[in-house]
Amino acid sequence: DFVYKMKNISKKYDTKTVLQIEDLAIREGEIFCLVGPSGAGKSTLLRIMNFIETTDTGEIFFLGHKYTPGQTPQLKVTREVTTVFQRSALMTTSVWNNVIYPLKIRGRAISSTETERIKQILDDLGLADLIKQRADKLSGGEAQRVALARAIVFNPSVLLLDEPTANLDPANVDIIEKIISKYVQERKACIVMVTHNIFQARRLADRIALMHKGKMIEIKEKDDFFENP
Ligand code: ADP
Ligand code: ADP
Repeated sequence: DFVYKMKNISKKYDTKTVLQIEDLAIREGEIFCLVGPSGAGKSTLLRIMNFIETTDTGEIFFLGHKYTPGQTPQLKVTREVTTVFQRSALMTTSVWNNVIYPLKIRGRAISSTETERIKQILDDLGLADLIKQRADKLSGGEAQRVALARAIVFNPSVLLLDEPTANLDPANVDIIEKIISKYVQERKACIVMVTHNIFQARRLADRIALMHKGKMIEIKEKDDFFENP
């Protein structure tokens, strides 16, 4: 099954076309990595997939519904997508409050089952001892793990990751990669991840897309991507 299907989408800023994709489908339960030089349009594509930005042309099918330029899904639908940026903003409160915030704004009471699930996520991310710490006192690696915990607690069908491990040390990278894999397997979520680290793409991706000047010049299954032509 497909989560996204995009047909002939394009995006212009002023007169410059920064994105032009004829046909792209993202499958349920896959990790789809976007690679390519700076300015290729990777972040623009993530913003379109997150419905922060709308396209100028084409159609996007998302979870069975069709959206054309100017149409945006209902809030309920956009909640199926969560983005983690390279530097996600945390609130100047405890790690725990940061992580439960997405549930609180949905007005949901946090059941004991849910509490256990959240604790497990924090544990997987090596954050169990930092639950009461203030988020603004964390190291870069810890803060990024909290941002990822918060996204996973929200339990979205789609997780968009924009260079989630940039500037982190190998220990932090390893923890984050493990939880990304676990989440995809358990939740059957799809993950679209921008990375400049080709080794990371090789470790995590099911498919890899190479972008250049707004176009997808290559989309391949991971093993084919790394095979010599
Ligand atoms: P990447 O993430 O691959 O580095 P981006 O999607 O950030 O690429 O950018 C693609 C192109 O769009 C770049 O040429 C960039 O300068 C341009 N761009 C991105 N956002 C805007 C904007 N808000 N206004 C004008 N140009 C933009
Ligand atoms: P890393 O090696 O991941 O970059 P740091 O050396 O930045 O980690 O931080 C190590 C420890 O110091 C972390 O547990 C972090 O919570 C704590 N810490 C970092 N900055 C501050 C700060 N401004 N105030 C209090 N504790 C801090």
